Amino acid sequence: MYINYFLYQKGLQCPKLFYLTAQNNKPHSSDSLLHHYTHEYIKPYVKVEEENDEEAFIKTQALLRDSDASICNATFIYMNCKATICSVKQSEEGLILYIPKGNTKLKKEYKQQADFLYYVITNAGYKIKSIYILTINSSYIRYGSVDPRLLFTFHDVTMDALDNQESVQAKVQELTALLSDQMIEVELSTNCLQGNGCMFRDTCFDHLVEHNIFDVGGLSKTTALEYYKQNIISYQDMIDYHVPLNPKQINQIVSYINQEPPSINERRVNYFLDQLYYPLYFLDFETFQLSVPEYEGCHPYQSIPFQYSLDYIEEEGGEIKHKDFLGDGIHDPRYELAKHLCADIPADACIIAYNNTLEKSVIMQCAILFEEFRDHLLELYPHVYDLQIPFMNGDYYHRDMHGSYSLKSVLPALCPELSYSDLDEIHHGTEAMFGYLHLAKQTLEEQVETRKNLLNYCNLDTYAMVKVLEKLKKDLGR
Ligand code: SF4
Repeated sequence: MYINYFLYQKGLQCPKLFYLTAQNNKPHSSDSLLHHYTHEYIKPYVKVEEENDEEAFIKTQALLRDSDASICNATFIYMNCKATICSVKQSEEGLILYIPKGNTKLKKEYKQQADFLYYVITNAGYKIKSIYILTINSSYIRYGSVDPRLLFTFHDVTMDALDNQESVQAKVQELTALLSDQMIEVELSTNCLQGNGCMFRDTCFDHLVEHNIFDVGGLSKTTALEYYKQNIISYQDMIDYHVPLNPKQINQIVSYINQEPPSINERRVNYFLDQLYYPLYFLDFETFQLSVPEYEGCHPYQSIPFQYSLDYIEEEGGEIKHKDFLGDGIHDPRYELAKHLCADIPADACIIAYNNTLEKSVIMQCAILFEEFRDHLLELYPHVYDLQIPFMNGDYYHRDMHGSYSLKSVLPALCPELSYSDLDEIHHGTEAMFGYLHLAKQTLEEQVETRKNLLNYCNLDTYAMVKVLEKLKKDLGR
């Protein structure tokens, strides 16, 4: 097995992460759009398309020896290390490397990857003139076809790569030894908790009791780790060792240990409920964000709404009715979505969303874009209420929310008969986004299945809101 820049970077984070990633041996995903526009930047080019690493290296060597062509997917091998570069230009002073990244900021790990690529390529016998990391230019707005010179910000990281070669060599030797080792154990560290957490967190944390110090809402990961190192792990440990906590955290821990009924600040929850009126519309949008804007006038990672679900009750005690919209996966969905939304929600409606930031921003985005729907959408805009508020403020807390106020935590706590895990294929927003973006590449039969899954997922979000509101009212005797 070769160490590539992805594995190398995992090795810098944590030796166990390196080991488990190497064992898993799954190809890592990359943004094909970014690669496409980086290729456009160096065109005309020749592509190395051999799947076998050794053959790809032979093809790259031949192109470098026999031509001055720019090369896509140039592959280099040195000992047990492999480097595949998105785009390479040749010059008399050496190779110029272009590495696209789907972020607007130049991150430390991108530079570490460049260090590794420099190591492999120079040791394979090639001179490097420059290495550029290409990040997304956050001020870019698409007009007409995409121009990579505007889409990307170019960062020259060559000097840093040159300076870091000794440490790369030492790290590669260390990682090479790990490849032939048995499974290694390491102490839990902040690396385990960075961002959304390490992908092997479940494996490495499975010795801990369920619902422990790492689940306490509002407790920083670094603080939780400090306590963990002092063997303060369970909720009971936190009480026994008098860990300083705020009132919400105390409520989370004590209500769980004592299996208490929900704690409700009736005055504040009643104030929230008093604001709502009929007709009552429960609205949830799904959106996608692309690094390279798909449509005219859009910027990178702009949220494009492609779907909504709407459950509505016209009068107190009335039946729950339902409407929805789902784009075709091919055309810009925003015009049709805005048109249907205006037809489906009357201007005098009270609208409920869960974390209404997205719903409000989509309504405003459509109002700015489409003059013919503007007045109607601007009437809806101020009446979008946020069902998250009583939970976020701690005015209603159920022990089974485990310190989280997301709908995915609130729903099973208040309405255990409903669950996102019962859904097929699509269980959260990211899966919905990828499902929608794949529609255009699917067969008709697959599209029918994906559309059904998308509708079921989004429908559960609005139905969940209906049921959570019902439960809130019931617990307040309303
Ligand atoms: S969870 Fe922590 S210890 Fe486990 S692999 Fe990830 S970073 Fe390493």
